[in-house]
Amino acid sequence: MSDTIISRCEAKGLRMTEQRRTIAGVLEDSKDHPDVEELYARASARDSAISLATVYRTVKLFEEAGILDKLEFGDGRARYEDAERDHHDHLIDINSGEVIEFMDPDIEKLQEKIAEKLGYKLMGHKMELYGVPLKRDEH
Ligand SMILES: [Zn+2]
Repeated sequence: MSDTIISRCEAKGLRMTEQRRTIAGVLEDSKDHPDVEELYARASARDSAISLATVYRTVKLFEEAGILDKLEFGDGRARYEDAERDHHDHLIDINSGEVIEFMDPDIEKLQEKIAEKLGYKLMGHKMELYGVPLKRDEH
């Protein structure tokens, strides 16, 4: 999984304009889950000629090519992350909208067990937890 987003775009035969390269570079450097507005802010800091519409179109193109995963957490904001990021699940803070990544081997195993019990080999899963921060004395 050492391929960059740009090299994967090229391998898929996407025409990589200068602006698409810039947006791919922003995505490569994003370790969080930015929405299009946030990506636009980051991309236009690198190239002020990039428009919001270009970011929209490029992100959609990358998503359709399987390079990005689109995440929807029910607040109407689509967020994006590199589709090749190591497997993890998400916990969404419903107060702040903050997205926390986690990986729990017990949950992974349990899901496989459930699939097996139902007669399936697990090929993937998506899990989203929604919560609010505990008050200090509830810890
Ligand atoms: Zn994530």
